[in-house]
Amino acid sequence: MRITEMTITPVAVPLLQEERWAYGRRVANDAVLVELSTDEGVAGLGEAGAYPSARIVEAAAHSLVPLVVGQDPMRIEHIVRCMDIVGTWHHVGWSSPALAAVEMACWDIVGKVCGQPLVNLFGGRVRDSVEVFYYVDGDSHEDFAADAARGKKAGFRTFYVKAGFDDPRDNIARVEAVRDGLGAEGRIRVDGNESWSPGAAVQVLGELERFGLELAEQPVSGRNLTEMAYVRSKVNTPVLANEASWTRHRQLEVIRHAAADAVSVDNQMDGGLLNLKRSAGMCEAAGLPVVKHSLGELGVASAAALHVMASTPNFLYANQYYPPRLADDVITADTVPPCRAGRAEVPDRPGIGVELDRDKVVQYAEHYQRLGDQLGWKTSAVHTTPLQPKC
Ligand SMILES: [Mg+2]
Repeated sequence: MRITEMTITPVAVPLLQEERWAYGRRVANDAVLVELSTDEGVAGLGEAGAYPSARIVEAAAHSLVPLVVGQDPMRIEHIVRCMDIVGTWHHVGWSSPALAAVEMACWDIVGKVCGQPLVNLFGGRVRDSVEVFYYVDGDSHEDFAADAARGKKAGFRTFYVKAGFDDPRDNIARVEAVRDGLGAEGRIRVDGNESWSPGAAVQVLGELERFGLELAEQPVSGRNLTEMAYVRSKVNTPVLANEASWTRHRQLEVIRHAAADAVSVDNQMDGGLLNLKRSAGMCEAAGLPVVKHSLGELGVASAAALHVMASTPNFLYANQYYPPRLADDVITADTVPPCRAGRAEVPDRPGIGVELDRDKVVQYAEHYQRLGDQLGWKTSAVHTTPLQPKC
């Protein structure tokens, strides 16, 4: 079997509600779709996260075409190594989502050829559905309390809150509002997004302990693991590495520095689903659970990762999963993985198990072209559609 064509399509799908973090906001999730055609008529789907931007990922993907077309899609390790070494894309970062999308599309082909969902090729189910967290958002503390209550009513058990503001009182008031909205039940995960100094992190996390935090995600810079280890030694809340741990090489350093109690892993940032499995295995050997991080993936990439999460024992915490936050998607409605009460079901069709909705791809490719540079975290536009949880 040979890959005969690689199609690259950037798209942008609106979010139900504007998403905010300590450094910006966005109104849509953009991504780059990769489709591989073969001489045997089997096609594979992949999706690259738009990191650091869809334009850069699109350019990286185009540069991979000569390395991918003509290859046997069953030889995934060989293709990834070829892109890495021959393509000189081994400096992970800009290149990684594009490589991950090609690798994902190859796995989709392998699954279709075998007639098996990917979960069966990655070790088989250790769980039928994967827990995902509820992303609490809003403009005011009252909004946060109300949104947390909405998520609880929809059946979620884990509630993710962005923090990391300059004034510690803002962080404390926000988490207090979420706890008020939830009542006694519900796990609260706070993400500092590297915003705090070690001293501020110890102070704020110490004060937040009374609200019963599940995890403190990346409270300080991910580039200084000694700082992370210091904070971890001073707080009772388990520390989750994220910006510190997006590649296997960084995860190894987190383990060596004893810098975290749990580790975020991301196939988009580390070149593929096979590396996601490797990441989890390395952390498992160190006694650490892992959490799937997402840059804001649409239906193809979100479904692909579910297969690895469902077949890997140490995905023990709720994961980041964007489909419930999307106003629409690029896959057909009947192939969107059901998501109920905070758990996303693993597709059971061959391969990734999703199909593109061609009309939606055209619509959201045009949306991407129209919005252009307004996309990503730079935008400050306000999207006012109220959040309606879909799972
Ligand atoms: Mg984070």
